[in-house]
Amino acid sequence: MEIKKNECYEISIVDMAEDGQGIGKIEDFVVFVKDTVIGDVARVKLVKVLKHYGFGRLEELILPSKDRVEPLCKHAKACGGCTLQHLSYEKQLEYKFDQVKNCLVRIGGFLDIEKIMEGPYGMENPFRYRNKAQFPTGMGKNFKPAIGFYAGRTHSIIDTRECFLQLEVSDEVIGIIREFMEEFHISTYDETSKKGLLRHILTRVGFTTGEIMVCLIINGKKIPNVEELIQRLTKIEGMTSICLNINKEHTNKILGDTCVTLWGKGYIEDYIGEVKYQISPLSFYQVNPVQTKVLYEKALEYAGLTGEETVWDLYCGIGTISLFLAQKAKWVYGVEIVPQAIEDARRNAKNNGMENVTFFVGKAEEVLPKEYEENKVYAKVIVVDPPRKGCDETLLKTIYEMQPERVVYVSCNPATLARDLKILAGYGYEVKKVAVVDQFCQTVHVETCVLLCRTNS
Ligand code: SAH
Repeated sequence: MEIKKNECYEISIVDMAEDGQGIGKIEDFVVFVKDTVIGDVARVKLVKVLKHYGFGRLEELILPSKDRVEPLCKHAKACGGCTLQHLSYEKQLEYKFDQVKNCLVRIGGFLDIEKIMEGPYGMENPFRYRNKAQFPTGMGKNFKPAIGFYAGRTHSIIDTRECFLQLEVSDEVIGIIREFMEEFHISTYDETSKKGLLRHILTRVGFTTGEIMVCLIINGKKIPNVEELIQRLTKIEGMTSICLNINKEHTNKILGDTCVTLWGKGYIEDYIGEVKYQISPLSFYQVNPVQTKVLYEKALEYAGLTGEETVWDLYCGIGTISLFLAQKAKWVYGVEIVPQAIEDARRNAKNNGMENVTFFVGKAEEVLPKEYEENKVYAKVIVVDPPRKGCDETLLKTIYEMQPERVVYVSCNPATLARDLKILAGYGYEVKKVAVVDQFCQTVHVETCVLLCRTNS
């Protein structure tokens, strides 16, 4: 059969890709279709045709999958945030588990991996789990402000009154700011003309402390009549910190380097388990505190600490995992590339009275080899939690040379995880356990925690 662009075809969706698009076939020709899920039978218009595969647009659901659910949010389809809201949560978890499994089988070559996989660990309530929101602001209809989220793959703002991933209080904050902007004619930054004041609104909430931070990111120095806004925002229970962040750069970067505290403290505090963390507008902090605890407890379990161990936590951020491990280890060394994060890490260690941690600023793949060669440092356990691109090969090689008993690999990208595990397996490390944890419900993202043990010496 000849496959033609702009023609419609009836397609059964049999799989889902890593970005959440449904996958179906016209004979042998593979078609990716956004907004469809496994089990759908759909009329699809082909919008792009390549040699072996193409992309289609959903025209009509002929037979909806039994796993479809009605999204809570009316913007779910357009918004770039929740790509899986139309799929039942049970199936979302299954999908994520399979994503990890398939990567480990196909890329890693771990054919029997399913036997040692744990989870998926999901949430009891997979909504309103985020402690942080960054709302872009712009000009909406009738010259009124639009505040919300970017539509998928674009920078056009969907004006949102309620986001079901955020706590209700975050909607309340936005409501107050929206009203203030209208009343006092606060301009919004326009990416094309590079003019206008307000760029983004950042909200952060400490789930265990109830402390709230509001940070207004502006292309300028101050907000007119800001005292009035402060007065209104401080009526919200839990308001702890109101700040400005100055960003005059004409880039996609949300936050600038300078923060000014307008009211209250310059930070909020939150706990994961027993450990207290200070969070400022610029700090990196995990966005789903409930599941972070689940993930870190897995990492701690896999690390198998008795109190005698020397542990390295590589890509440590503000030391969240390091401090969690330090509760049970003899000494923890953390390495992180961002100097401000290490400042936070050191302060957090001090605030928790933890003296058995040392933090290094630098690249993990440079600091660890250097410390090993020059200072003959040792590790019983090494924990890595790299960004999406995974670990540098030099680092994996140093791990091999250092011969720790256990390696715990925390990953936000199953593909690079599988690639790196294959390398470590070649170095004599056996994959013992794999836990799949859902940190980002309603989206396609998934976290994995893996235990590897040394099999030879
Ligand atoms: N473990 C932390 C943060 C993980 S995110 C937590 O759970 O909160 C990954 C971290 O790796 C980021 O903080 C990023 O700044 C850092 N990073 C990126 N490349 C790095 C490198 N080459 N060496 C060390 N840290 C790096």
